[in-house]
Amino acid sequence: MMDLNDLYREVIVDHNRSPRNFRRIDGATHTADGYNPLCGDRLTLSMKLEDGVIRDVAFEGSGCAISTASASLMTESLKGRTVAEAETLFDKFHRLLTAGGDENDPALGKLAVLAGVRQYPARIKCAILCWHAARAALHGDKSATTE
Ligand code: ZN
Repeated sequence: MMDLNDLYREVIVDHNRSPRNFRRIDGATHTADGYNPLCGDRLTLSMKLEDGVIRDVAFEGSGCAISTASASLMTESLKGRTVAEAETLFDKFHRLLTAGGDENDPALGKLAVLAGVRQYPARIKCAILCWHAARAALHGDKSATTE
């Protein structure tokens, strides 16, 4: 395992071991597959939207600890958000990993535990994969890759 901050690592290990919302949604309104060829992470994201609000979001698939933990954390933070809020969160999370975004930004909540990933450029795509899949699903695309 990487040398991340202990608290952060604990949350990531927990979400990898017991991923939240690891299932497929019956009657999903939006789905997309995500693939990260660099690492081999694969996931299928499903969502149920009502009146522009993400009522439910879940994922299935297999990938490394970072991709699984990130997807688990993402499902928790997207539930109950509007599509516009989800887009804003995507941008903040992307900046957190790639451009030194602020891990103390309260909007990120628990997602901040993944800030340590930016020290490992090869793993950034593992962490961002689920977000690309979520955005693809919201845009009506069926698949997303990290390249
Ligand atoms: Zn990975």
